[in-house]
Amino acid sequence: MKLSRNDACWCGSGRKYKKCHLEMDLRLEELEKKGYIIPPRSIIKTEEQIAGIRRACQLSREILDGLEDVIAPGLTTEAINTWVHEYTMAHGAYPAPLHYNGYPKSVCTSINEVICHGIPEQRVLVDGDILNVDVTCILDGYYGDTSRMYLIGEPSAQARELVQVARECMYLGIEQVRPFNRVGDIGYTIEQHVRKYGYSVVQDFGGHGVGVEFHEEPFVQHYGEKDSGMILIPNMVFTIEPMINTGTYKCRVLDDNWTAVTADGSLSAQWEHTVRVTEGGVEILSE
Ligand SMILES: [Zn+2]
Repeated sequence: MKLSRNDACWCGSGRKYKKCHLEMDLRLEELEKKGYIIPPRSIIKTEEQIAGIRRACQLSREILDGLEDVIAPGLTTEAINTWVHEYTMAHGAYPAPLHYNGYPKSVCTSINEVICHGIPEQRVLVDGDILNVDVTCILDGYYGDTSRMYLIGEPSAQARELVQVARECMYLGIEQVRPFNRVGDIGYTIEQHVRKYGYSVVQDFGGHGVGVEFHEEPFVQHYGEKDSGMILIPNMVFTIEPMINTGTYKCRVLDDNWTAVTADGSLSAQWEHTVRVTEGGVEILSE
């Protein structure tokens, strides 16, 4: 059904269509005719949703900040889980991972060769470990997803470089986020950076739309071709969360059906932000 120029816009802004999304829709229509993948309207967030997602993201960020003072050699990943769970609940939110498709804990803790989805347990952090903690809060129904790396004591020079390169990858990917760039531009830019170091980019997991659900469209590859994938338009919200390995990009999932490790036991590092496409570029909601 086609909207008339004077109808209220489909996006919920309350403005007339001609003063809101009409021009963009015409441009997208042309691109779709040429074979481009355009975003479904269902993933374009309203201002109200964005405000809610931003609050959820800020709580998740606050948790990662708080963990900077908590994480130390001798701590178990189970203790990190307890800290995250209690902080989340104390702030009126709920940890999205808990019972998500049967996941047993409130946070993911991924050490060394673990790529992602490490399950907190009695493993004690030791000097030299690199650790990713991945937090997603549900606050007032909105999801905020962010993760970062923690260095335990003095990791090796290679481990520290890997952590740094993974962080650079996330920010280089974020720099590609602007209207009418494409999802593939993010992955392409990340993979080009990783190649300079001889590291590899995990392919089996990626970023994802987020905000109203834990996982929405689009899937965000961290490798691949530029000028490929879905067109970006304002108020799409998704994560960029490159997982970078020192060895092979290939993964193996352990018998717990969650923990993903590098197939060759090499180190893996990951950083993650939730971002929003703005009129002029990007807003990092979880920074
Ligand atoms: Zn609109």
